[in-house]
Amino acid sequence: PELQSQIAAGEVLERPASAVKELVENSLDAGATSIDVEIDRGGQERILVQDNGQGIAEQDLPLALTRHATSKIVSLDDLQRISSFGFRGEALASIASVSRTLITTIVPGADQGIQAEAVHGKLAEIRPAAIARGTRIEVRDLFANVPVRLKFLKTTATEAKRCQEAMAHMALAHLDVSFSLTHNGREIFRFLAGESLEHRLQRIWPPHLVQDLVPIQRERDGMRITGLVGTPGQAQGRGDRIIMYVNDRPVKDKLLLRALRQGYKGTLLSKEYPQAVLFLRLPTREVDVNVHPAKTEVRFLDERAIFSLIQGAVRNGLDACLA
Ligand code: ADP
Ligand code: MG
Repeated sequence: PELQSQIAAGEVLERPASAVKELVENSLDAGATSIDVEIDRGGQERILVQDNGQGIAEQDLPLALTRHATSKIVSLDDLQRISSFGFRGEALASIASVSRTLITTIVPGADQGIQAEAVHGKLAEIRPAAIARGTRIEVRDLFANVPVRLKFLKTTATEAKRCQEAMAHMALAHLDVSFSLTHNGREIFRFLAGESLEHRLQRIWPPHLVQDLVPIQRERDGMRITGLVGTPGQAQGRGDRIIMYVNDRPVKDKLLLRALRQGYKGTLLSKEYPQAVLFLRLPTREVDVNVHPAKTEVRFLDERAIFSLIQGAVRNGLDACLA
């Protein structure tokens, strides 16, 4: 099982940013409204995620660290309806198999917290520990026992940047949750709960770009697209300033990208890389998010409907702002 976990880790966990993403997604799944992340040395030396979510019960803690133990699927039927971020139950086990992971957690109403440490997948005894609320997961020396993976990591600055990006992207889809990120003791950002999308965007993109974005919105057959897109007169954007979500999960998807570009065709200046933040919401039966372990790829049941929904919404929004 240890080897299995390490193999799984290879697929789910490419770099520190993937661990940050999985841990923060778990915090969101646990209903946290406040998520604070600290990383040291690009996340390679240490990642600490603290949340105020529902915590992990003592009997579930060993399971949470075991591959394929997920609290989020009860039956096969659930697979169809699943809408939380996690549902395969291998992220935490994967992280624990390639690091020293210390979990401290408390469930509401308990009079004491608990703590468990896993070193390269080996779980030590659960002991009582002090914690006020939620869950605190500290991951040290990621990939220390997988030297090949270490070799693929980039500079500390680059890995830190990727952690920052992964977290910021999740923060844009959860405006009611506060997030902070600290790297080597220095605060990188702090988003307060209740901020607007524009407000958060202004701290990741140049503010003037955000000012010129126009809102789009369209709904059809239970599918809805909303978001902000760059105006045609704006200078050419960059690939990393197109952020897309399906059911609040950040995704990379060629179909969505093509639909976005198509929306610009025939406007003043068609763009290869228009700035955009797009939120696509679909009934869960319309989308398969289980295509790839890292869950950034998706497959749609009705590609044509989605393409035309997005293209139409973008076109409409641009027309309205040019009129
Ligand atoms: P998945 O999210 O796919 O269920 P993970 O490996 O990411 O699997 O997490 C395993 C389990 O650990 C989760 O199902 C959840 O029950 C528990 N868990 C992990 N992180 C947290 C957290 N921050 N708060 C509460 N429960 C958590
Ligand atoms: Mg998860």
